[in-house]
Amino acid sequence: MSAATLSNYISGTWQNVNERKTLPVENPSTGEVIAYVPLSGAYDVDVAVRAAEKALPGWSSTPIKERVQIFFRYRSLLEKYSQELAELIHKENGKILSEATAEIEKSIELTEFACSMPQLISGEILEVSRGVECRIDRYPVGVVACITPFNFPAMVPNWTIPNALVLGNTMVLKPSELVPLSSCRLAELLKEAGLPDGVFNIVHGGQETVEALCNHRGIQAITFVGSTKVAKIVYQRATNQLKRALCLGGAKNHLIVMPDAHEEMTASNVAASMSGCAGQRCMAASAMVAVGSVDHIITKLVEESKKIVPGKNLGAVISKAAKERIERYITEAEQQGATILLDGRGVKVAGKENGYYVGPTVIDNVTPDMKIAQEEVFGPVLSIMRANDVDEALKIENANPYGNAASIFTQSGGIARYVAEHANAGMIGVNIGVPVPREPFSFGGWNESKFGSGDITGKSSIEFFTKPKKTTTKWNAEARKNWMS
Ligand code: NAD
Repeated sequence: MSAATLSNYISGTWQNVNERKTLPVENPSTGEVIAYVPLSGAYDVDVAVRAAEKALPGWSSTPIKERVQIFFRYRSLLEKYSQELAELIHKENGKILSEATAEIEKSIELTEFACSMPQLISGEILEVSRGVECRIDRYPVGVVACITPFNFPAMVPNWTIPNALVLGNTMVLKPSELVPLSSCRLAELLKEAGLPDGVFNIVHGGQETVEALCNHRGIQAITFVGSTKVAKIVYQRATNQLKRALCLGGAKNHLIVMPDAHEEMTASNVAASMSGCAGQRCMAASAMVAVGSVDHIITKLVEESKKIVPGKNLGAVISKAAKERIERYITEAEQQGATILLDGRGVKVAGKENGYYVGPTVIDNVTPDMKIAQEEVFGPVLSIMRANDVDEALKIENANPYGNAASIFTQSGGIARYVAEHANAGMIGVNIGVPVPREPFSFGGWNESKFGSGDITGKSSIEFFTKPKKTTTKWNAEARKNWMS
């Protein structure tokens, strides 16, 4: 069967895209083309924004307690179709089924949080002078656009869909052109849950589509998740157009390992952090800073990493270009004098010879000046750098321009506290390789990992997706007059 060309999702229906340009969507595990994604232009974006604008008055004036009912149903549908969604994620992204299932579990948790919004945003009211009260109500921002990356085809869209919509906004989602299928299925589930047409819309495409979203006057706020290079461009373009913007970028996460760290727990956590989702996580361990004598932990880490087998418990990377880029980083590090302890280059998976697999790779004696130590590799590759003490390790960690996550592995509470305080990153792990905060805690890094204020999920999202209205009222003519009456 030939692969179909996808449509945009506008006002609850699938509509053909005006632009004729398309890109093939590949299954990274096999290299097979599974769909064609259209590259929407300014005209298609305008159609979607108009649909979202039309739906806004009805949706934003629906009481929040009614809006959340739809998301209780959406949550149940995510659970009901979890297996099917996981298979779709596996097919378009290449991650293994258990990782794809975890994405749906996290999407459920995000939706549960959104369902608690009525409890979180009940207003503030106070008698500020005799007989005069001040109250704050939260209003939706309006039409929001959300632009998402390839590495979490369902979870990252669900970072924003439930919260933004429960808070009364309408949305245009621009999923990654590499993984557009999961978002389409989410649109169907939202409709099945009872979401009114036009509240949620999808435009497919790439750079031109994003530019049209940033330029469109009907959009009030933009969230972006992707690489730092593009996050900066989108943040600048959106804020230049006087839109509210929150743009999450790439990462280079360091794990500091002390000699007193628990050998087995550390080795298995570091290996899992480095290789989970084939290293294509903005929370993945990319660098390990080994402090003092930790060779026993490194030996164990290599042993653990050998248990991670491409095609079995390690998925494919997203594309041929990604595989080549990752392998190039390894080769350059080797040429610069690093020691390859475990080499994932050139692997082939039987029966999936055309798939884009890179095996787990552990590289020792990396120095901070090497390219592999400085740039985001985004593959199952761990670079080990050496430090004499915790301050030297922190210096290496804090010299990197990103600031998503940093972890410390130790049995000493004092050292853990010291690193948590001094690491220049937004999310800290103590004996945890992937320190993703779970709801209600919000997700977001620092420095070049995020542009804009606040975080994208959790309570922080309330600030981003609403605007506070302050109303001051006096009904009683007898109320005492004072300087502000
Ligand atoms: P990407 O930046 O290439 O693409 C992200 C989105 O931007 C896509 O929808 C894409 O179509 C669009 N885009 C691409 N180039 C553009 C351009 N020049 N102008 C406007 N839009 C453009 O990112 P990716 O490869 O899809 O995802 C991987 C990156 O995302 C990694 O760097 C990873 O660290 C990062 N990421 C960060 C977080 C976080 O929370 N900080 C979470 C997930 C992924």
